[in-house]
Amino acid sequence: MLSYRHGFHAGNFADVLKHSLLALTIAALKQKPKPFVYIDTHAGAGKYSLKSEFAEKTGEYRQGIVRVWRESEPPAELRDYLAAVRAENTGRQLARYPGSPQLVRRLVRPQDRLLLSELHGSDATALQQLFAGDKQVGVAKEDGLNMLPKKLPPIQRRGLVLIDPSYEMRDEYKKVVAALVSVYRHFATGIYAVWYPVIERAATEAFIAKLAETGIPRQLCIEHCVADDGAGRGMTGSGMLFINPPWLLASQAQTLLPWLDRVLADGGGRWKVEWTVPEAGADSGLRK
Ligand code: SAM
Repeated sequence: MLSYRHGFHAGNFADVLKHSLLALTIAALKQKPKPFVYIDTHAGAGKYSLKSEFAEKTGEYRQGIVRVWRESEPPAELRDYLAAVRAENTGRQLARYPGSPQLVRRLVRPQDRLLLSELHGSDATALQQLFAGDKQVGVAKEDGLNMLPKKLPPIQRRGLVLIDPSYEMRDEYKKVVAALVSVYRHFATGIYAVWYPVIERAATEAFIAKLAETGIPRQLCIEHCVADDGAGRGMTGSGMLFINPPWLLASQAQTLLPWLDRVLADGGGRWKVEWTVPEAGADSGLRK
């Protein structure tokens, strides 16, 4: 039984990091006119109301998108991300927030495609309704990691795969690593972005190490923690592990993360941009 609902967390500090990096990656893919596919294995409901019982119950978005939204001079790295959030809303009133599917849908071109899977009954229905009749988007109520090998390599031969599980099941970290090893063989030129939470530092580091040990090259880890690590404190940070990131992403993140830290953690958090499996000549990382 799946109990996780992203509606409780939409627009929180982890979504801001994930979705702003996602928007930068889509912008990089658009540098070439050739079509690409975006695959979202754990898509959620597509978009969210910030006035819902879910959002108000946790109020997490107040420590996330609300803090970014009220800034008068956000960095250029947030341009597309904020344009997509703005497109969900009227004027300066912040009432809705795009999940990864709606964010990407707002940023792609007519030649690009989205393939989304979501397993939770209500969220899968919401996702299907959101994109009903949209020929650029395919939605499946299916296990995302089972769906992935069926879609790779994509006919476009260019693509971005977002793997964004809720990690409700103990074995989910293992399953993500196994899925990546298997699909990478068939689509080694794809961009993969894997989201992870920082809840227990040892578990986070073990996951990053397991991914590094796969031998898959070009792994870039981008992480932001708004509070010190500590068991029992809940999610204190989050990160995105990229395989084959766009070449500018590391330097864009190095500009973006200090800004995000100031806005989301009052400058008291920690962040890193680090090649966990470096490419030749790459900067080995930057730590605060
Ligand atoms: N990617 C979304 C976004 O950024 O807006 C958020 C996704 S949320 C973190 C994870 C989602 O995965 C939940 O909606 C959950 O119902 C769904 N889920 C859990 N297990 C799944 C599975 N095996 N296959 C597909 N979706 C799954």
